[in-house]
Amino acid sequence: MRYWFPQYYKGGARFYTYHVVATALRKAGHEISPVLDGCDAALASLCDVTEYRELVRIKRSTSLPVIVGGHYAFNYWSAIQYADAVWIGEVFDFADCADLASVWAHPACYTSDPGKQLIASTRIDWAAVPVGQIAPRKAYYWGSVGCRNKCRFCFTSWTHRHECNSQARVRKACQVAAGRGLHLMVVGNEFDGDQAGGRTRDMLLVDYIREPVDATMIRVGIEFATEETRARMGKPITEDQLYAAIQKMNRDRISMRWFHITGYEALEDYERYIDTLCVMLARHPNRAILHLMFNNLQYQNYTPLYRERMSVDPSRYIDRTVTKRWYDRLRQYTSSVLVGAPSPFQHVACRMGVELAQTKEQIDYWLHMSKDPAHRLTLDQAHRALRSSGVLTCPQRRINPLTGAITVEPER
Ligand code: SF4
Repeated sequence: MRYWFPQYYKGGARFYTYHVVATALRKAGHEISPVLDGCDAALASLCDVTEYRELVRIKRSTSLPVIVGGHYAFNYWSAIQYADAVWIGEVFDFADCADLASVWAHPACYTSDPGKQLIASTRIDWAAVPVGQIAPRKAYYWGSVGCRNKCRFCFTSWTHRHECNSQARVRKACQVAAGRGLHLMVVGNEFDGDQAGGRTRDMLLVDYIREPVDATMIRVGIEFATEETRARMGKPITEDQLYAAIQKMNRDRISMRWFHITGYEALEDYERYIDTLCVMLARHPNRAILHLMFNNLQYQNYTPLYRERMSVDPSRYIDRTVTKRWYDRLRQYTSSVLVGAPSPFQHVACRMGVELAQTKEQIDYWLHMSKDPAHRLTLDQAHRALRSSGVLTCPQRRINPLTGAITVEPER
């Protein structure tokens, strides 16, 4: 097969994903063409909703069948609106399809047939995964997919079963990269492996406080403001453990980046959380940077949290005026703190609007609104549009992690 597969990523993880897909297709004997002429189909690989416009551009630029895959393709009801077929899951079974008829007939391929039992393709040919250079001195290598933790909000961990590359292959990839003078990043969600000696490491906070760590920056997910919500939604991190981490980063002289999700708990819960951090930092003023990052919550299909989407409450979402206020408060106790501001609720509403859209009209409306959403919509308008555009009625999906079978859950 000859595929037109436009590459529009400038670097980083998306560039690497393109490289993995293109390598698998070439190894299976397909040709990747930079031009449309003589091709059998156009391919689009979408990571997330922010790339949907690329799919629209590809669809409008050709009369060839358009097949969309990538992480976003799990949202097949949305992706099909600007495609002829959606490939759900990994690329390796797709690469084995010798013609379009085989692609269309495969259980991982969605073509708007409501009666088809969809089964996401979960087979990864780890031996065929390449080391990909993504910058002059940096390469990526695929270490694992999915995650054992299964936090209730985490799309990746509910759409992919947890699977790891072998340590032998990872070691070999390190040697290959070193031989080419490249620093290798092993990409994955699991935090217990050696991340190839990078100076920035992603860890679970509980691991950081009990292990010696050789790094300059540690990134951890705290996620929620209260112990109760953290325990229920993902990682049961206690206040004592937060305090232990602050003391340890002082001893280690390591900077930390803490990720949080706002929009779920009441604002007062986060005000109390910031007060608690102020007390901890007053007792143990940190010398290395503590960087607090905040993301406003998006309710995503497949996750258990998606069942609560009707209770989305814009008054719980924060913007830069709130993070600025928290920064000013924290600065009274430490000069080594940074506070990142999240995208406002209107952006989150647009992301949900596109992702949950089941008609072209819904997609077009939300894509239009997503051009500068905070100017087009007030908080209240964005909230009402989410409800009135009908996207929240998109039914809950579930994937059987062993078989890949996708089922539609009855509403409770
Ligand atoms: S630990 Fe991180 S990657 Fe794993 S399920 Fe939780 S949020 Fe997702």
